[in-house]
Amino acid sequence: MKIRTKITIQFSIVVAFILAVFSMAIYFISENYRQQEFYNSLKDKAVTTAQLLIKEPQIDKKLLKVIDKNTLSTLYPAEVLIFNDSNQVAYSNFEADTIWYSPDLLNRIRVDKHVETQFNEKQVVGTTFQDSLQNSFVVLARAEDIYGQEKLENIKDTMIVGYLGAVLLTILLGIFFSGQSLKPISEINDEISRITASDLRRKLDTGNGKDEIATLAVNFNDMLSRLNQSFELQKSFVSNASHELRTPLAAIKSEIQVALQKERTPIEYKETLETLLSDNQRIIKLTNSLLQLAKSENNEEDVLSTELRIDEILFKVQDEMQHAHRQYQIMIDFEEIPEDIAWVTVRGKDTLLKTVFSNLIDNACKYSANQLAEVRIHFDAQNCYVRVKDSGIGIPDEELDHVFEPFYRTNNAKSYNGSGIGLSITKRIVKMLKGKILVKSKVGEGSEFTVELPHL
Ligand code: ADP
Repeated sequence: MKIRTKITIQFSIVVAFILAVFSMAIYFISENYRQQEFYNSLKDKAVTTAQLLIKEPQIDKKLLKVIDKNTLSTLYPAEVLIFNDSNQVAYSNFEADTIWYSPDLLNRIRVDKHVETQFNEKQVVGTTFQDSLQNSFVVLARAEDIYGQEKLENIKDTMIVGYLGAVLLTILLGIFFSGQSLKPISEINDEISRITASDLRRKLDTGNGKDEIATLAVNFNDMLSRLNQSFELQKSFVSNASHELRTPLAAIKSEIQVALQKERTPIEYKETLETLLSDNQRIIKLTNSLLQLAKSENNEEDVLSTELRIDEILFKVQDEMQHAHRQYQIMIDFEEIPEDIAWVTVRGKDTLLKTVFSNLIDNACKYSANQLAEVRIHFDAQNCYVRVKDSGIGIPDEELDHVFEPFYRTNNAKSYNGSGIGLSITKRIVKMLKGKILVKSKVGEGSEFTVELPHL
């Protein structure tokens, strides 16, 4: 069901219910009031008749009857009966052909002094009266409030028509106003359906910029910008990756073509094969890095499950790196000895932490003439810090912000082997481990990378 229909139905049901309760309350209050008012006038009528008949001896019953008949209220013909102590009719202003009273009723009136009751359609009032000789009479007056009931019927009809009209109006207004308030959403929907993956630069109209719909549009625009950014990044990543792979592949192709141009000696073939092997290794290293980068993106969950000692990880990395590159010198030291091993214990994954530190140590050795990486561990109340320092070629100031981007290589490093992926992997892993990585560097003097990780 559409929100518009839902809002209209809910709104109409609520209004219809309130109106119904309100109308019924008015009807019942009016009915009550009418009844009470009629009982009062019946009582007046009964008392007046009794007074005239019992207290004014000069008034003759027949005369009173004649007066009564001729002055019967134009509004209602009230029947009055007066009973003496022995419950015999002492006076009646009409020919009593139907008996509408009972001895019980008369006794009740004598006990309660005043009784109001209903008999068929008619209202009955009974009251007691005493003459000067202390004789007790019961006066009964009965009539139908035709005028009052007609008035009430009219009110009822008017209320039913008014009620139906008001409900209909509510439905129409509900449709109109819900349409009005949902119009901006329909417009946003139309605009969104026009946005395609190749068109993420398009923005939604943010309207008055103040209401909830404007906030939705602003948030949606922000999301589009982030999507666009990540699409752009993806595109440049793919083109960079294919470029990086194409270079060694093209080199392999031309080396094979050159070798095949003429007959070669076995030594020349061996040299060619060795060059091919080194190019091939370059490709393998690059594809491994790409794979690691992709893995680091999908590996978000479960990375903080293990508690690991930073110093142990660093010594393992030192061991592995010195096996692979005998010329590398790696010095690991504590700035101060930790009293509690928790200060150098972090949450993470062994392989991920090893990747972080081997990338940093490899760069430090690779980009410095003495191939020396100085690694220092220190800590404070919250974090453990690992600083990897070298005295190599350094990074130009204006390029410092870019070294963590995939495939970015500084101008002064182009002559060294590398693909520009290591630091971007490192940064992603550190972020996954809820840490930070910072860099300080000076061209010609060296670089210092600091990894900050929260300890236990
Ligand atoms: P790679 O070393 O394979 O090129 P990285 O992502 O590890 O890729 O590094 C990106 C770039 O940052 C390097 O190409 C280099 O220009 C620069 N860089 C990283 N570490 C150092 C360092 N210790 N000294 C100087 N330049 C560095």
